[in-house]
Amino acid sequence: MQADWRIFSILGIPLYIDSSWLLILVFVTIINANNLSAGQLSDINSVTSWIAGFIMAIVLFISVVFHELGHSLVARNQGIKVNSISLFLFGGVANIEGESKTPEEALQVAIAGPIVSILFFVAFSLVKLLFLSASLWHFLIQDLAKINLFLAVFNLIPSLPLDGGQILKAIIWKITGDRNLGILWAAKAGKIIGCLGIFLGIILVIFSGEIGGIWISCIGYFIVQNDCECQELVEVEKYLLNSIAKDIMNREFEIINAKLNLKDFAELYVFETANDLPCLAAVDGCDRDSIVKENLQLIAPDLRSDCSLSHLILPIAEKHLVEEKTSLIEIIKKLETIDNRCIVVISGVGTVAGTIDRVDIVRAIASQHNIFISEAEIDKVKQENTYPDRLQISAIAEGITY
Ligand SMILES: [Zn+2]
Repeated sequence: MQADWRIFSILGIPLYIDSSWLLILVFVTIINANNLSAGQLSDINSVTSWIAGFIMAIVLFISVVFHELGHSLVARNQGIKVNSISLFLFGGVANIEGESKTPEEALQVAIAGPIVSILFFVAFSLVKLLFLSASLWHFLIQDLAKINLFLAVFNLIPSLPLDGGQILKAIIWKITGDRNLGILWAAKAGKIIGCLGIFLGIILVIFSGEIGGIWISCIGYFIVQNDCECQELVEVEKYLLNSIAKDIMNREFEIINAKLNLKDFAELYVFETANDLPCLAAVDGCDRDSIVKENLQLIAPDLRSDCSLSHLILPIAEKHLVEEKTSLIEIIKKLETIDNRCIVVISGVGTVAGTIDRVDIVRAIASQHNIFISEAEIDKVKQENTYPDRLQISAIAEGITY
């Protein structure tokens, strides 16, 4: 089943709905229908209560869309591309490409969503007054006002990536002039609030037997987890900004004479799994050419003793070489643009000083930030030549402007 359904576009922004959102639709319809028939309006017939419950679920959907539209339109006004708005189990998200350039602009984007929700709350609260207090319409519109107030208040919790966290980030960014410090402070605030939520939930369950406490603890846990990820992201960004090739390059590599025959090469460097070092080929005194081991299989085993290593050699263009002082961000971006799996680092005197591939980068970041990366994940990096899903290093490097 497809994860997202594209429903329609609003003002040129595609709207997607995740299948998990259907659960919310059913859940909200049932809750509202039950509330209506069991509450002040017990004389209401069951068909009407179900229809009213369903309408309220749809209006919740519209309220969330307008909240996200608030963020999206302000971002678009600042020249930032808005890819889509998606609704899923826990609410909505505007997929905005890039970030505001100043703290003032970041604040405007963050605050736009809650402002829309508060305006809806005020509007529904006023419209409600037009109907008799015991009528179905009064009851429905009052609930719609409450839904929008809840959307505004929940999103204002100062935790990333919620709007409250984004607002706090923008304020600290404005005061200190440091965007990353803004994210770190917002992440710290979020972690404290998340821990309080977990604690409060447990207290409620233990001392008052309130089962809803479990839900509060779960939300607290998600908040803590999200803020830890945000903090980790900033620290990784900082590491990428401050590191150079020399810091992470692999100093162990083999330089093999290009005249070696492929049979010997295969036995010494391909089938001998203990020898997994990066290999470079020396051709006519130059030791910078890369060897494409994968191409060995294109040459039949009985022909290999008559062929030299030069069949597997791919000269490395000057643009694929880096200096020891080249920034790590530049190297990550370069790796995305070349076919070679590794980049060669050249010393100040023009000799090969080391090599850098994606595994070296992942291992360096993981050890620096105590992130556990399993050997299975490392194998995947080697085979697929991509980064682990939870450490999208190229996307982080792309996002850094300096
Ligand atoms: Zn929001």
